Amino acid sequence: MKKQPKPKVAFFDFTDCEGCQLQLANMGNTFLELTELIDIVNFREIMSEKGEDYDIAVVEGSISTDNDVKRIKEIRAKAKILVAFGSCAAIAGVNGIKNRTSLEVAKERVYADKAHTINTIKVMPLDRVVKVDYYILNCPPYIPEIIAVFKSILMGKPYPLPNYPVCVECKMNENVCRYEKDQECMGPLTRAGCNSWCINNGNRCYACRGLLENPAADGAKEILEKYGLKVEDILNHFTLYNDPQGEKYDQEFAR
Ligand code: SF4
Ligand code: SF4
Ligand code: SF4
Repeated sequence: MKKQPKPKVAFFDFTDCEGCQLQLANMGNTFLELTELIDIVNFREIMSEKGEDYDIAVVEGSISTDNDVKRIKEIRAKAKILVAFGSCAAIAGVNGIKNRTSLEVAKERVYADKAHTINTIKVMPLDRVVKVDYYILNCPPYIPEIIAVFKSILMGKPYPLPNYPVCVECKMNENVCRYEKDQECMGPLTRAGCNSWCINNGNRCYACRGLLENPAADGAKEILEKYGLKVEDILNHFTLYNDPQGEKYDQEFAR
């Protein structure tokens, strides 16, 4: 039987820390096994070649300049499949913090007297500008999900993201709830799929996978009330990932 050519994969980054790509490079043997199934033509962190002919674009980072908008559209036009890789790309991630203030104030804080020379726009996840075919969430991505998404792509199948809260995985892992330890946690509102990674390791959920499509806001409110907390307490603590999602959280609680 004739061997099928391997799909050509290119990795790109926008506004980000490149930690998602590092996570991939850190996969060791699993990454090497992946390279038996795909042909990597562009991956700045691990190779110097810059192939411009690709089937699959794996894109890390948020859109935060007019030039980013132009560039992601060009990438989309060339790629048969586009993957949003990591929280910055999928939900605007940490970069979304910039949207909590006006652009002028954000520019002045970062660039001081050079602010007027900077072209910047409100931060956006990729799917505000182009069609995204697959999402790999998390900051940084959770390796089992990276593998699952690549498997789906290679088999030509969709990868449906879980639409239930991190609490479900947390309970299955028999963790003691952080609320029982007088700590707030965003698990009740956050999309599962990381196997409650942070809670398993003694931390809390900071919502790096973003908000559920239909979070049970009433249930989350009940948890907060049970532990003597208010909605504002939790929203004010967890601003790392929830903008532009922040708008959605506020809307959910306002219903
Ligand atoms: S999602 Fe996290 S690890 Fe990935 S680029 Fe953004 S900040 Fe870095
Ligand atoms: S609130 Fe946090 S610690 Fe408690 S069950 Fe949910 S995910 Fe686990
Ligand atoms: S537990 Fe929460 S913050 Fe940690 S990886 Fe999962 S979604 Fe992200």
